[in-house]
Amino acid sequence: MAAIAGRARSVDSNNRKLDELRARIPSFRCIVGCHDCCGPVTASSEEMARLPVKTEAEHEAALAELSCPHLGEHGCEVYSERPLICRLFGTTPSLLCPNGMRPVYMIDRRTEEEIHQFLASTRQVLV
Ligand code: SF4
Repeated sequence: MAAIAGRARSVDSNNRKLDELRARIPSFRCIVGCHDCCGPVTASSEEMARLPVKTEAEHEAALAELSCPHLGEHGCEVYSERPLICRLFGTTPSLLCPNGMRPVYMIDRRTEEEIHQFLASTRQVLV
């Protein structure tokens, strides 16, 4: 019982941290229809719980093309719930947009460090 309660607290805490980090990542406009930064990405179980479930066949088909199962004909189909790593792309010198798009102000170093800590401290699975 204590283990279940502890796990629930951890999920709540991770969900709060996730929302906080998402809010701190600067946003910018991508080129419409571009998906150059999409590919196989990983996410925490808290992020996975917010995404639609894909079949094993859909996962395998995406992976065979080094793509993401949520990438559709018109781009990301889960944009409002895309994982942290997708949101980070283009906002930091270490993950620059290949098409030169960027926010006015790049992400601050502390937020980027906290994102990497979050990624390292949560169990990441292939999206
Ligand atoms: S979740 Fe969306 S933004 Fe992230 S890799 Fe998949 S299609 Fe691209």
